[in-house]
Amino acid sequence: MDYISLDLEWNQAYPEQLEAVQKRLGTRLRGEVIQIGAVKLDAEMKIVGSYSVIVRPRYFRKINRHVERLTGITQDMIDLGLPLPEASERFRRWCGEDYAFLTWGPDDIPMLEDNFRAQGVDGGWLHRVYDLQKIYNRQTDGSRKQRSLEFVMEQFGIPQNLPAHDALNDAYFTALVAQKLNVPKGVAEYDRTSDLSDGVLLSDVTGDADVGDAGFRTAYEAVHAPAVAEPVCPLCGAELDCPERTVHMKGQKYLKIMVCPTHGKLLLDLRLVRNLNETFRVRRTLRVLDGETEEKIRARLAEEAANGRPRRRRRRPRGERREETAVPQETGGANE
Ligand SMILES: [Zn+2]
Repeated sequence: MDYISLDLEWNQAYPEQLEAVQKRLGTRLRGEVIQIGAVKLDAEMKIVGSYSVIVRPRYFRKINRHVERLTGITQDMIDLGLPLPEASERFRRWCGEDYAFLTWGPDDIPMLEDNFRAQGVDGGWLHRVYDLQKIYNRQTDGSRKQRSLEFVMEQFGIPQNLPAHDALNDAYFTALVAQKLNVPKGVAEYDRTSDLSDGVLLSDVTGDADVGDAGFRTAYEAVHAPAVAEPVCPLCGAELDCPERTVHMKGQKYLKIMVCPTHGKLLLDLRLVRNLNETFRVRRTLRVLDGETEEKIRARLAEEAANGRPRRRRRRPRGERREETAVPQETGGANE
């Protein structure tokens, strides 16, 4: 397998333009890629090729002054650039058949995916991506700091003899850093743990209208949808019990204690985010519940019990059948 270190430069939209374009497209687009730079390393980590292309933006066509100053990419250059569908097709062919991408930091691939989506370009070939920054952290001091490429180059004694903020140069520097690390080992470990660091057992997003999914109309709907609120245990597949109701913490954060018969207490953490079309999406994580968080949730539950049930529950008609309220969180509620 080859490794392809990848770096992008993108044009930043001016704020008012950004909003108008995102609304019009109904999709997230924070900037437009104007340069793709890449360096190919073979299985022995030898540099075997490089690729660079200037891309002509479609929506944010005027070069941002700050971006021009930083990258040296001018209006004339992007005007003569290749349209994204063509540039990406050529790049894909250059990548070959068996490859994995290495990026410095997590930002480049999502940016490229957003750009692809905005122009209807297939991005399925961006599937194997490794953030070299994470591999670096793991193989050096184990910290979670986001070290700059410059910092790490200096640490490894790699001379910065080319201008930075050129996608090809930065991809080349990333390749040189990759040569100082054990990338095959890093990749193997990465595949095993990926996002599951920090005791996170599950991490996903539901209802992202900005990428074409159906968003949730209300916060209540988002937080209580079975697809969101009823995960099975990621460790054993068992159905999880929820002895307490979901509590609303500050802001758009909701927490729920869940219990696996084998793995004990887990914490379902839900964050609501507004989509561009005003609906909600939910960012969800599930992890092992720690004592401190459990205390916070219990305090909040006690507070809610003292203040009476949340409004929604009070509205239930009085004549409703009793057995429907026989779930544990209903029994200890305050009188109405
Ligand atoms: Zn379990």
